[in-house]
Amino acid sequence: MLDYIVVGFGLSGLSFIEQLEKNDKSFLVFEDSSQKSSRVAGGLYNPVILKRFTAAWNAKKQLQKAIPFYKNVQTKLNEQLVLELPVLRRFNSVEEQNAWFEACTKPILEDFLDQELMYNSNEGLDIPFHYGRVHHTGRIDIKNMLSCYLNYLDKKDCLVNESFDHEQLIITDNFVSYKGQEAKNILFSEGFGVQNNPFFKYLPLVGNKGEYLVISSPKLQLNEAVKSSIFIIPLGNNRYKIGATYNNQDTTSGVTLEAKEELLRKLERFLKVPYEIIDHVAGIRPTVRDRRPLVGTHPKHKKLHVLNGLGSRGILIGPTVAENLYDAIENDTALDKEIDIKRYDNFFSLL
Ligand SMILES: Cc1cc2nc3c(=O)[nH]c(=O)nc-3n(C[C@H](O)[C@H](O)[C@H](O)COP(=O)(O)OP(=O)(O)OC[C@H]3O[C@@H](n4cnc5c(N)ncnc54)[C@H](O)[C@@H]3O)c2cc1C
Repeated sequence: MLDYIVVGFGLSGLSFIEQLEKNDKSFLVFEDSSQKSSRVAGGLYNPVILKRFTAAWNAKKQLQKAIPFYKNVQTKLNEQLVLELPVLRRFNSVEEQNAWFEACTKPILEDFLDQELMYNSNEGLDIPFHYGRVHHTGRIDIKNMLSCYLNYLDKKDCLVNESFDHEQLIITDNFVSYKGQEAKNILFSEGFGVQNNPFFKYLPLVGNKGEYLVISSPKLQLNEAVKSSIFIIPLGNNRYKIGATYNNQDTTSGVTLEAKEELLRKLERFLKVPYEIIDHVAGIRPTVRDRRPLVGTHPKHKKLHVLNGLGSRGILIGPTVAENLYDAIENDTALDKEIDIKRYDNFFSLL
């Protein structure tokens, strides 16, 4: 009998599998490539909400957990995955500069916001009101991380490249069984795909579609991520990610002309050098109404667990909440009420 079946291999699945590996647990992963959120993500980690100059939820603690976590994955896969990358906030006005300086005086932000204005020296960008710099930021090469990790799982013989069919799951008090394979526990980390999961679809996961363009611009020569109304994120080799959009109405998986036009309109407000579009990608962020992850055990079936709702900051949140869930299942520690799916038990009882 296996210790775990894991359904879905994005950031949530990877974060939980790392816990299983650390604790010598056996497991089998099902992945069907139906969702793309982790694969198209910008991969940025940034502890500050740059729209309002406030600290992201629990960012300081999550950062302390996340960086060693990704460095560990980097060593295990023998790939350069953790990239230090300064994040610069382009100010749109003197009022925004003043709001930044006011935010700098808040104890929760003092480690993260630089108190000096930063002047632009890149002729490819129009930055009339200068920048504010955020500290403790970077990028995880998430696409490469997931792809190398999948190879690793494949070589270990613990990957099944197929869609998990929930109808075929047999649930008993002490274990689950799927197509003849028994396991002590099953984790669902399906991202927006949870809407097809009969056990957990009662959870209020909304979904927020995001699209990015990838451009090539040899003249730009930018080594920092710049945030204006959209991000420009350097990827190396003169390539940059431009985005992303936010759309909680469209739950289709494909790219749209509307998003492309929106991104180009915003980009051309401050990019002054030529570029060529080389890619356009889309994914659905698994977002939740109360902006907190969905972590925990099914209200009725004690062997069924969920790790979801990482929203737009999965890189920072994933490693912490995966460890919290593992400890709750294996060591009976209590989950923080803020993340525990128990907060939605009334939705389940309405079924
Ligand atoms: C455009 C965009 C930009 C983003 N940028 C950032 C960023 O810069 N920084 C950041 O921290 N976060 C970012 N995010 C958010 C981040 O990507 C998410 O928080 C994270 O990807 C969620 O991971 P997940 O594993 O829960 O979901 P997913 O990545 O969606 O993974 C779920 C997996 O489950 C699989 N699956 C689903 N159902 C089944 C089934 N029945 N059988 C088998 N497999 C199944 C899917 O194929 C998928 O691989 C971004 C998201 C988007 C869309």
